[in-house]
Amino acid sequence: MSESTYTIAQEAMVQQQLIRRGITDERVLAAMRRVPRHLFVPPVMVNEAYLDKPVPIGYQQTISQPYIVAHMTELLELPAQGEVKVLEIGTGLGYQAAILSYLVTQVYTVERITQLAKEARERIIELGLKNINMKVADGGYGWPDQAPYQAIIVTAAAPFVPPPLIDQLADGGVLLLPIGAKRQPQYLLRLRRHGDKIEEERLTPVAFVPFLGEHGWAE
Ligand code: SAH
Repeated sequence: MSESTYTIAQEAMVQQQLIRRGITDERVLAAMRRVPRHLFVPPVMVNEAYLDKPVPIGYQQTISQPYIVAHMTELLELPAQGEVKVLEIGTGLGYQAAILSYLVTQVYTVERITQLAKEARERIIELGLKNINMKVADGGYGWPDQAPYQAIIVTAAAPFVPPPLIDQLADGGVLLLPIGAKRQPQYLLRLRRHGDKIEEERLTPVAFVPFLGEHGWAE
């Protein structure tokens, strides 16, 4: 496919998969138009980059479906002003991190598979996204040195909310994660901190790969 074909496919994705299904946040839509999704799938999968589905990225992992990326980004309710730090757990090839990089001051993202993190880093450098900070670790522990975060997003499905992530949430901040069974059913859970109190909302049904590690599923 040529670059202009990608541009057409990307605009069709925004119109048909996002706007038609109710994504209204203009900043989210602008970010979804700005990040070339075909650069965040393996080269053999580029023809599937703008389709309405998750795409395999190797290591039994996937890049999430475009609608889910946009929907989760919208649910984070990121402040439009001031210093905003976001923590993402589960970098994969870095697509969600790239979207977030256009919406916040600093993105911190943690991936447990070294090779995926390496490939994500190459893409992020190539696109010149300088506000994305990455590390290889068990994301269940968060990234305590940089806490607190105005938003934390987990992109793999956990059996329970990892306690360190709640601890690293700023006052008024949002923690969004898929919760549920190792395969299905799962749903998005949104937690919001109000001082020492945590408000919980059970939202959209979803299908994510399992969140592994100390605060997740055993391998
Ligand atoms: N956010 C990605 C999607 C990644 S798929 C995107 O935008 O395309 C989920 C990722 O979570 C996988 O790469 C998987 O390796 C990672 N993951 C699972 N458990 C994890 C853990 N405990 N810590 C860090 N990463 C984890």
